[in-house]
Amino acid sequence: MTVVQQRPIIKTLPSLLANQIAAGEVIERPASVVKELLENALDAGASRVDIELVHGGMDGIMITDNGSGIRADELSLAVARHATSKIESIDDLLALNSLGFRGEALASMCSVSQWAVISRTADSGQAAKLTHQFPEQVLEVNHAIGTCVTINNLFHNTPARRKFLRAEKTEYRHCDAVIKRMALARFDVGFYVNHNAKQTLRLPAVSDDIGRTRRVAQVCSQKFINQSLTLDYPHNDLRLWGWISQPDFSRQSTDLQYFYINGRIIRDRVINHAIRFAYQSILPPGRHAVYVLHLQIDPASVDVNVHPTKHEVRFSESRLIHDFISRSLRDALGGTVTDGVAEIAATYIAQEKSVGMNVPHIMQIAGQYNVDESMFGHMLCVVHNRFAITQQQDKYYLIDLVKAAAAWVAGHWLNSCTEHAVKSQPLLIPQRLNLTEKQKTTFKQGKSLLLNLGIQLTAEASGDYLLRYVPNLCRAYASDELCINLLNANLHKHDLDDQVVNVLTKTRFDLSKLDLSDILLALSEKNSLMASRESACCWRELNESSLQDWFRSTS
Ligand code: ADP
Ligand code: MG
Repeated sequence: MTVVQQRPIIKTLPSLLANQIAAGEVIERPASVVKELLENALDAGASRVDIELVHGGMDGIMITDNGSGIRADELSLAVARHATSKIESIDDLLALNSLGFRGEALASMCSVSQWAVISRTADSGQAAKLTHQFPEQVLEVNHAIGTCVTINNLFHNTPARRKFLRAEKTEYRHCDAVIKRMALARFDVGFYVNHNAKQTLRLPAVSDDIGRTRRVAQVCSQKFINQSLTLDYPHNDLRLWGWISQPDFSRQSTDLQYFYINGRIIRDRVINHAIRFAYQSILPPGRHAVYVLHLQIDPASVDVNVHPTKHEVRFSESRLIHDFISRSLRDALGGTVTDGVAEIAATYIAQEKSVGMNVPHIMQIAGQYNVDESMFGHMLCVVHNRFAITQQQDKYYLIDLVKAAAAWVAGHWLNSCTEHAVKSQPLLIPQRLNLTEKQKTTFKQGKSLLLNLGIQLTAEASGDYLLRYVPNLCRAYASDELCINLLNANLHKHDLDDQVVNVLTKTRFDLSKLDLSDILLALSEKNSLMASRESACCWRELNESSLQDWFRSTS
């Protein structure tokens, strides 16, 4: 006898269940509710929001705004899934001006809470109210213009999710972080927060530099403001402005890093990299800059519809954005960048001391740099992104990575030049260089030498000079700087070796893009390309006491 297994029939999910499933994606904890409600308030043009939290938001969240409000006849739609007033077609997504657009936040949070929405538009004398008890029945009530959403007992009907909530303090901290992130996005909006009926944050709306700076101090600390630089760089339809820490103010964690694109908080790899690149020779490894930065950009050139929580973005020209940010920051930091062993190590050591470490302790910082066994032994640390300290039994080596990298790259580069085998890669966006008259002349005379080196720079009919191709070998180096430095060096065929090493030594590079183990291995091989460069003092051997001396002499 065969048993016929009954196949479950296909049914459309009831809307409550569909919303609860969606809530799993958008609403993770009270802070997610706060984020969505604040976004709605800002999208509605509010200039003031009042936030009441009970027990970290787990038992109650009430957010009141003075925005445009929702019409009584649209109220039920607002809490329905996939209902939004913010976009009408897929094209609107490409030029998004609002924070929300998915039309599922209210529906999601309402499906997992006991809720009420009260709202009044400017042209209505009465407010309309809808609650979870009678979700179909709009009531008339008295209320100011704007919207008030209450979300009580979050996850009361999905106990499995409620179990994942943490201590009241933790949930409150998450809500507080969301509010502060939003507050640094919109200085023109006042934020007033009560937790368990006590005022915990009061940020009045501000409209001038003094006010904005005061708000940043309230959120990030006065100490940061005292040691920060302000910047404002407009460039075509881009603008970057905000506050960044000077090199002597850094943190062990990345918690005070705020980056906004068109008022939306963003965590993005391209942007993180651009900022780290700018700080690379300034901050010791393991230390992080503090910043509040706003990038304004044509909404059509950035796609935010990548992730439901919308922290990631996709740029149509990410290279251009990357370089614009890192160049602007480098420029702003320009006045404070220090170079040379003494100053670099001094800052480093001062920081180690200030957190109560004695010098040998810094030996433990290294981790991220993976170096194969060579005569240098293993990597202990990299001091200020420039000096590697390695240990081989009781011997220490101090390696100047700037020089070592320059020697290594120059060696390989010129070798492949002689064989006419330089591999170059096109820049995603050709880079416009501002050349001086002298550099232009050098370029005209030395074009073939540059081409031979794998660098394609073109003079356009418009008078612009565009950098189009750079050698793969030089990918760790800032390509615009490299090209300009080559032009300044006025290369000639004899002693090309030394000239190129010189140029590379002067050019900023990103340590993380270099293969350190290759370089160190080459450096330790006798008879290798680099053996002849030992005299260029790429490295020094030290014992424990001379290592201590080195640190002491530089502090
Ligand atoms: P989305 O914000 O993605 O459109 P939501 O579920 O968050 O979706 O909100 C649905 C709609 O309800 C919004 O498009 C908006 O028209 C309206 N709405 C929600 N909150 C507010 C508010 N605080 N003020 C005015 N309108 C609101
Ligand atoms: Mg929304």
